[in-house]
This record gives sequence, C-alpha cells and structure tokens, in this order.
Amino acid sequence: MLIAGLEKSSLLDYAGKISSVIFTYGCNLRCEYCHNPELVIHPCRKEMIIPEREVFKFLESRIGLIDGVVITGGEPTIQPDLIPFIKKIKDLNYLVKLDTNGTNPTIIKEIISLNIVDYWAMDVKYSKELYKQKLTENIDYKDIEESINLIKDNAKDYEFRTTFVKEIHSIDTAKEIGRIIKGSKKYYIQNFRPGKTINPNLTNSNSFTQKELEELREIMIKYVKKVEIRN
Ligand code: SF4
Repeated sequence: MLIAGLEKSSLLDYAGKISSVIFTYGCNLRCEYCHNPELVIHPCRKEMIIPEREVFKFLESRIGLIDGVVITGGEPTIQPDLIPFIKKIKDLNYLVKLDTNGTNPTIIKEIISLNIVDYWAMDVKYSKELYKQKLTENIDYKDIEESINLIKDNAKDYEFRTTFVKEIHSIDTAKEIGRIIKGSKKYYIQNFRPGKTINPNLTNSNSFTQKELEELREIMIKYVKKVEIRN
C-alpha cells in the first residue's frame, strides 16, 4: 500500500465513531475541485510514504482507544494490495470505512463479498452527462453505475455524497444525480470550500449559501430516504 498520510484521531470522518484516517497515494481521476492535489498530481516522493509496518504499529497501540479506521485517498481501490490490507485491519477488530470514487466495481464487488468493510462512502460526482465529459478515456460511466448499484444493493452500510461546486453543479445536476441514486438510503450534500484545488481557477470559488443547499436538499429528498448537508 502506498500510504501518504495518517490522521491519528478524527471525530468527523466516520460518523458516530472515533477513527484513524489513512490516506493512500494516487488517484485515477483528476477532479478539478480536488483538495488533495499532493496525493493526485504531484509525483510520489519516497519521503511522503509511511511504511505499512509503522501504520500497523500505530493501530495496534490504539486498540481500545479508537473504534475504526477510515481508508481514503487518493483512490484506495487502485492499490493492488487493498484487500489484504483491509483484512489485516479487521484482524485487529476495527471497524473499516472505505471511501471510493466508484471507478473500480470489480474490486468493490470482491470486497463486499468478503464482508470486510463496515461502511462505504462513494462519491457520486456528477450527472451522467457530466461524468461522460469529465472521465478520462480509460474510465467508463458504466463502471460508476455498476458501483452505485453494488453498494446500494449489497453493502452493509453506506452513503453516497456529492461535493457541490458552483462552477460545475446546478439544480439540474442535482436532479440527475437523484435519478442515478434513486432508492438509496443515505446521501450527503457537501459544500465546496475555497482552498487549494487541482484547477487553480476554482481555488477561490464561492461556496453555496445555506438557502441554496436547502434547495438542493429538497430535490434530493425526493430520491433518497435520508439527505443531510455537510458544510
Ligand atoms: S476528489 Fe477524490 S477522486 Fe477526485 S481527484 Fe481528488 S482524490 Fe481523486
């Protein structure tokens, strides 16, 4: 595993749990609004990487103090040894939350069948049309759809979520996303916050107002059982 970050204790990343957060290096997408360019577009430097044995030494020392481990990125499913890595965390009796962009349904299917992830968080980034514009040639929209259905129908617990960016998303985008995830149990509207981004033109982009976020919520609640706003 290429691990480029470890947040020792978080109350925010795994709802209702105290967790440690592992950031994997590398991603197969290049979302313009991504706040983690150092994990995505910058070359991997040896000094960035935290050896796996150090991560496990730390996790062993936290038994009884934290509830779970969040694996995020980057995109964790591009790591070839993700499954044995999760199994090792489960051997320590931790809950595992896995964040994904949903581009690897084959791995997602395998992990679900092994029942080693307790909570899935998948980004549903765009409407179908926008996905087709934004995905690179080697990533197919059908994979996104397949991942949504796999998680919706089979995951132990999950959420879908979208980071809404004024320059990219509109009310119509929300309606389209609603149709894609119709019948899901949980969805989070995440407000874009100004800060470093892959596309520097978005760095100082405005966030949605509370009123606008509520409007988005009104739309999404027609499709999903529970919709919340993350500011
Ligand atoms: S937002 Fe997530 S999926 Fe998109 S480039 Fe960044 S790490 Fe990858």
